[in-house]
Amino acid sequence: MTTIAFIGLGNMGNPMAANLVKAGHAVHGFDLMPENLTVARNHGVVIMANAVAAVKDADVVITMLPAGKHVLSVYEDIAPKAKKGALFIDSSTIDVESARKAHAIAGKHGLLSIDAPVSGGTVGATAGTLTFMAGGSKDAFAKADPILKSMAGRIVHCGDGGAGQAAKICNNMILGISMIGVAEAFVLAEKLGLSNQALFDVASTSSGQCWSLTTYCPVPGPVPTSPANNGYRPGFAAALMLKDLKLSQEAAQSTGAVTPLGAEAAQLYALFNAQGHAGADFSGIVNFLRGAPA
Ligand code: NAD
Repeated sequence: MTTIAFIGLGNMGNPMAANLVKAGHAVHGFDLMPENLTVARNHGVVIMANAVAAVKDADVVITMLPAGKHVLSVYEDIAPKAKKGALFIDSSTIDVESARKAHAIAGKHGLLSIDAPVSGGTVGATAGTLTFMAGGSKDAFAKADPILKSMAGRIVHCGDGGAGQAAKICNNMILGISMIGVAEAFVLAEKLGLSNQALFDVASTSSGQCWSLTTYCPVPGPVPTSPANNGYRPGFAAALMLKDLKLSQEAAQSTGAVTPLGAEAAQLYALFNAQGHAGADFSGIVNFLRGAPA
């Protein structure tokens, strides 16, 4: 049994913390929202008065927060108060620069740290099947691996500090672009009088095959479990896709990488969000494309 501090008990953090409790760990939790603390308490998390109190006796500290500024501000507060030799794991999706700053704060206080963002959404968080993309030293990763296993389907050590966030941002840029590509193909097929099922049957076993088509098909019918069959309820909300695409474009600008399709995808998701669909599943972009001016 390990004593784990869990800070950020929202849509993702709460089910992740519940799986750590189920695995037999003592989880000391904190969040700013009282209603999230109530859910966590019902999962067996011991609720602490603040983040500093949560980390005091913890061997491992996990953060699952909205963005880089939250992670850095929490790290500044808790790193000086953490147990000597504790391991910090940040699973939030944040920009690579902030992730590297977070490693530096932990390092300054003699703490091990990894960035370990996830993919798999709330469904994966609840089922304990998240994919973790980790960045940090071999020692930090070796210590994190058995803890992450209680929440994971797959864990990949991607490289040094920040490499996990880099992998996450690149993966989600592929996802945003590929979803728009698949959605455009269905819109064109409809105009050509081709049924959704016929396009799916061909493309899912041909060179157009990809996850956005075969697992997450943006039109109702061909893949019964996709959000298109459930009124485009998320799933993975368009607001989060926009967040990740913006992170990819910030990273492209700061490194000089040329990502014109990533930039276009970010613009299209910004418009989709601005039209009131931030809470809808990101595959709903197909409806926006149907209605978009030519
Ligand atoms: P959320 O908004 O539901 O949860 C974030 C929690 O952090 C909130 O409960 C908030 O009160 C808490 N918080 C903010 N500042 C705090 C502070 N200073 N101290 C303590 N608690 C604080 O968000 P989420 O959906 O759980 O996402 C968390 C992270 O995971 C984000 O970075 C997101 O991009 C990433 N992510 C989300 C999904 C998803 O499907 N929801 C999937 C993959 C990755």
